[in-house]
Amino acid sequence: LDREEPNYFGAGPALLPTSVLQQAAYDLINYNDENLGIGEISHRSKPAIQVIDDTKANLKSLLNIPDTHEVFFMQGGGTTGFSSIVYNLFANYAKKTNGKKGKAAYAVTGSWSKKSAEEAQRLGFDVDIVVNTKDKKFAEIPPYSEWKPIDAESTAYLYVCDNETVHGNEYKDTPAPDYLPEGVELVADMSSNILSKKIDVSKYGLIMAGAQKNIGLAGLTIYIIKKSLLEQPSDEELNKYGIPLPPIAFHYPTVVSNNSAYNTIPIFTCHILKLVTQRLLDNGGLEKQEEINKKKAQVLYEALAKYPNFYRLPVTSESARSNMNVVFTLPSDELEAKFIKEASENKLTGLKGHRSVGGMRASIYNAVTLNSVELLVDFVKEFADKNA
Ligand code: PLP
Repeated sequence: LDREEPNYFGAGPALLPTSVLQQAAYDLINYNDENLGIGEISHRSKPAIQVIDDTKANLKSLLNIPDTHEVFFMQGGGTTGFSSIVYNLFANYAKKTNGKKGKAAYAVTGSWSKKSAEEAQRLGFDVDIVVNTKDKKFAEIPPYSEWKPIDAESTAYLYVCDNETVHGNEYKDTPAPDYLPEGVELVADMSSNILSKKIDVSKYGLIMAGAQKNIGLAGLTIYIIKKSLLEQPSDEELNKYGIPLPPIAFHYPTVVSNNSAYNTIPIFTCHILKLVTQRLLDNGGLEKQEEINKKKAQVLYEALAKYPNFYRLPVTSESARSNMNVVFTLPSDELEAKFIKEASENKLTGLKGHRSVGGMRASIYNAVTLNSVELLVDFVKEFADKNA
């Protein structure tokens, strides 16, 4: 099983290392020489539990996850996370406050955080939008001094999207360091940049990440949660407080106490995650990966910035530009179509921007090599030289 190395910049589902897919393809048919594939065995069998445990151990090692935090997996993706976070964290808040409903602060810096805030509201919870850059077309992440102050007395958590996949902005350091009041939990969606850089997990109450962009296949979501946030009132108590019960398949304490296999975990997807994390560890961990990712982003942004009248970078704040999703536009729809067509003829694919914003987007996740990015850089320059 082989393929020519793709130069693929799609945003998600996204590229995976060929070596991982080759191993996974074999294991899909015959895992551990047992004459059964990894997706065919019971999710409660020993080999399946081993896959879950190994994946957790790899994540703990890569992200240096402290004992205060737990890792678990659930079916679904980012959108499932939007809903499950709300139910579970408000239930935890009720536990901490003897039945208070409270509210959540949301930082809207792109379409994914916007959708998540809307879901929390749709489910009937109080949401305070502390910053919203929609009017500025999500071109920056404003300084925290410009964010609305958080009411520590009544706020359960602050929600951020660490990397906005569609609009191409990213928090480069732990979000809201001095802004966040003590006792208010930091919740981050890292669906499109988890394992792209080192982070300080101890600063987060909860990290949620769909696997299908930077690190795996669709179907599985990673959660890293502060153990104290797993405490929830009983169903009877929640009913008494008038706070909705988290659906059982997405009830974090139940999922954790069943080692992520309360119901059927997509074990093949988890196995891919195990192989991807193992490869990251073997290749020098996140320090090394972060260095490569920064280099890739740097060469691409530099190439685009050389032609300011031709390529436009909608994220105007340089410090907020994503190292994962590089968005840019050209002077006309015709030139954009020509760019996509000629790039594809040069075997550079997946460059079309999200349908909601148009333009171009080069997603340069972990599996995209520096070599692929350099080929794109050469094309970016050539195209501008010919067409500007
Ligand atoms: N959050 C982010 C940052 C995303 O990029 C996406 C998907 O593109 C989602 C959430 C939604 O994920 P899903 O399609 O798995 O529900």
